Amino acid sequence: MDQYKGGCNCGAVRFELGAPPIWISACHCATCRKRTGSDYGISVVVDESRIKEFSGETKTHTRTGDSGNPVHYEFCTECGTTVRWHLTLIPGRQVLAAGAFDDMSWMEILGEMYTSEAAPWGPVGCDAARPGAPDDDWRTAMLEQAKIRFGG
Ligand SMILES: [Zn+2]
Ligand SMILES: [Zn+2]
Repeated sequence: MDQYKGGCNCGAVRFELGAPPIWISACHCATCRKRTGSDYGISVVVDESRIKEFSGETKTHTRTGDSGNPVHYEFCTECGTTVRWHLTLIPGRQVLAAGAFDDMSWMEILGEMYTSEAAPWGPVGCDAARPGAPDDDWRTAMLEQAKIRFGG
């Protein structure tokens, strides 16, 4: 489906999802702010097996997350757009940058995290909001909402 296609700014990296995301959430942590140049990053969380296509050359930047586990960010070697990342803590899942999709009109931000680090104007206003890292209740709420909204 066209709504599940996307790529980097220059078009060298392209991807396509074969099925709906597991959830979509916003993150206000310092890393997401610096990565995007905005108050928050928007994560389209998918099961690895749902990525139908991923092509183009990327470079990986690895940082240690709050949990002490590495997070691997893939960005286009040509234009620098961060397109995808994954957490060693959560095997089998990948995260795509919402803004990298060609069409964002179908998306809905179901929850947000690290709101304590947000700018005063930053929070999206989701019911499922965490001041810091996500917990199990938050994740359960995301999964339930995604089933309703995206058939995920
Ligand atoms: Zn590019
Ligand atoms: Zn973040």
